[in-house]
Amino acid sequence: MAATALPDTLGADAVALLRDLIRINTVNPPGNERAAQEMLRDLLSEAGFECDLLCMEPDRPNLVARLRGREPGPSLALICHVDTVPAEPSEWTHDPWSGDLEGDYVWGRGALDMKDQVASEATACLALARSGWRPARGDLLFVCTADEETGAHKGAQYLCSEHPDKVRCEMVVNEGAGVAIDYDGKRFFTVAVGEKGVFRFHARTHGIAGHASLPAVGDNALLKIAPLLERLREQPEPEATPDTLAFLETLLGEAPSDLRGALAEIRDKNQLLGDLLASPMLGVTLTPTMASGSGKINVVPSMAQVAVDCRVPPELGEDDVRKRIRAVLGDNGYDIEFIETVVGNRSDFGGPLAEAIAEWVDEVEPGAQVLPLVMPGFSDSHWFRKAFGATVFGFCPQNAMTLDEAVPLVHGADERVATADVALMANCFFELPRRVLGE
Ligand SMILES: [Zn+2]
Repeated sequence: MAATALPDTLGADAVALLRDLIRINTVNPPGNERAAQEMLRDLLSEAGFECDLLCMEPDRPNLVARLRGREPGPSLALICHVDTVPAEPSEWTHDPWSGDLEGDYVWGRGALDMKDQVASEATACLALARSGWRPARGDLLFVCTADEETGAHKGAQYLCSEHPDKVRCEMVVNEGAGVAIDYDGKRFFTVAVGEKGVFRFHARTHGIAGHASLPAVGDNALLKIAPLLERLREQPEPEATPDTLAFLETLLGEAPSDLRGALAEIRDKNQLLGDLLASPMLGVTLTPTMASGSGKINVVPSMAQVAVDCRVPPELGEDDVRKRIRAVLGDNGYDIEFIETVVGNRSDFGGPLAEAIAEWVDEVEPGAQVLPLVMPGFSDSHWFRKAFGATVFGFCPQNAMTLDEAVPLVHGADERVATADVALMANCFFELPRRVLGE
């Protein structure tokens, strides 16, 4: 069979679908993803996909679309989420739900997170199915989830636990990375191979309650929180994982001799790259976000607490985290209660999907390299690794918009995406399934 040709209108089709998706308000909460999911389902069913809308709540369906292969084999899922974070129209120069096209950009909430990827994955799937292409082995899945922005309880987490047979797959492409970055004269396309775990906790101090008119009586727990907060100006010592070392070695061209030095060098050449990508990868981070003491202004608190958002390299557990906390806060004078613990997970960057991504990068930008990294944040990738041991990469390529241009717009005002990037994404999602699943 001859190789399936890339349709000329692929980029324009993806841009048109993106504009339609932005015009459907899917701000979560409440989400209301149904209209968007039904539009995608109708398009994909007509092109030959078997589609299911699976939901925990009637207005919050997840779409699972499957294009069956000719033989059994490992399946590939292109996943995405159609909900967005809120937007405050008065802060925007374009209406957040206009889908306006101006200055080579599509404007609107979700343009970068992540209706761009929804539209380009769906457009690529439609073009593949309409051309008559079917996987030689394994199935191609398009899974568009609801409820990612508020924790995926009704989205990916629900699909993987309640409908595993519908979404079981061996390889997954999701959001998380893909922006091309220039460093030291070289160009890299980032690929997310893992996400950090989340270990949120309260650090508490204790004292003796008393009347606030008599400060010498009682023992004020709030005053004991202050030194803990002061210590939290420091982060735990940088530490390396195999992913971090691979990242630094690829970026710097050699294995780093010391981590602090490597980080300083990266920051020196590209501050944003250092702060956004390199620094959070180098270990556990501790960020205090809330503090409280007495419930009444005239009562000396017997207990005070600070809430800390703690992010942890993949595969490290509670004992590891406690050690890092003690190294910063000391051994005594407080106690710790974890309020949320999720061990992060990761995939080895290898196998057919990794090869297909690297090959594609080399074709669109000869000489550019793939740069695997671990994301500081959390994504739906987690659930697919956990449920099926799938190889999951975050990859949505962009080379028109730079990292410093895109980052402030995600969850911010005037979110927009370059039409050239939407076309690049559609090209990628058209090519990957054929390379991974066969012509
Ligand atoms: Zn997202």
